[in-house]
Amino acid sequence: MNTSRPIRARISPAAILHNYRQAKASAPDAWAWAVVKADAYGHGQLRAVEALQGEADGFALLECENAVALRESGVRQPILLLEGIFSERDAQQVVKHGLHSAVHCLEQIDMLVAHARADRPLSIYLKLNTGMNRLGFDEATLPLAWERLKRIPAVNLTLMTHFAEADGERGVLWQLERFQALAGEWHGPVSLGNSAAILRHPLAHGDWVRPGIMLYGASPFADQSADSFGLQPAMALESRIIGVQTVKTGDRIGYGGTYTAERPMRIGIVACGYADGYPRSAPTGTPIAVAGQMTRTLGRVSMDMLACDLNDLPEAGIGAPVTLWGRGAAGYVPADEVAAAAGTIAYELFCALAPRVPVAVDGQ
Ligand SMILES: *Cc1c(COP(=O)(O)O)cnc(C)c1O
Repeated sequence: MNTSRPIRARISPAAILHNYRQAKASAPDAWAWAVVKADAYGHGQLRAVEALQGEADGFALLECENAVALRESGVRQPILLLEGIFSERDAQQVVKHGLHSAVHCLEQIDMLVAHARADRPLSIYLKLNTGMNRLGFDEATLPLAWERLKRIPAVNLTLMTHFAEADGERGVLWQLERFQALAGEWHGPVSLGNSAAILRHPLAHGDWVRPGIMLYGASPFADQSADSFGLQPAMALESRIIGVQTVKTGDRIGYGGTYTAERPMRIGIVACGYADGYPRSAPTGTPIAVAGQMTRTLGRVSMDMLACDLNDLPEAGIGAPVTLWGRGAAGYVPADEVAAAAGTIAYELFCALAPRVPVAVDGQ
């Protein structure tokens, strides 16, 4: 629903396509699953799929129902269920619609065995736990998986694993070694790299990479910007100034009075709060753009509003454009910088965009 309250999320399909091409250029020998889980990290699953439809090698997401919806909307590319199936019904759908499915436990294999057909080869991504310790088979359980997979009459198998610290100092080599040890004599396809591995670890791509966050123009790294990888922000969160206050030295701003004016100040009130998805944990000083200029937030973020410093923006009054993150009418604020100020990552900001925020799509 479009509302007259001025907050908007603006999505750029062109940026998503550009970023997918960057992923392909960074992993030139690999196929790339476009990861569109979590409603394409808050950008809208269908919007992201449409942006990439002519080009993506495949789409990866979580819910079987969403995969089927993509099939029914005409998506022909492979679709991968990253957590595999959750029920017998999912197993049926995987067979019926030719979905690719991760398999991380014996129970999933058993459900697939019950529905597999010799004339419909199943595409399985066998997930190996190489140190993330979240999902997948280890040296104790993998032999059982190999045994049970023999009960499926026709199967195309890929081995996959997921990196826990591709963005950090420990890197990926330790997990690659475990992967090799588990995979043994396997010479078939493998799927390894997430965005961090795609951008920083060329040996950890495999035949199929799985870029997620980079498609949306944010960086997987705390110490390197999305710009430096040539990524373009795909979401801008924008609003306007809806109130202006002039405060005296010693006046405090907002709930809890966490910011005290050190001099007379002009304060702008922005129509954006934590009920819109802006993090309440963002402290005074979080970057924000107003009318083409960078400034800072002041005090606590409330449910529907936040305050910003207009001291150096004497022209900015009611109606002045504000960019909370992304490339908007008021300026460019990297989502990664807002996230860092709030003690989180851009992934969480994007996914937390609230349903009440109207979405505008560039070019539509
Ligand atoms: C979410 C996810 C990805 C994408 O990770 P990014 O860090 O966003 O690139 C890749 N693989 C798996 C298994 C995932 O769950």
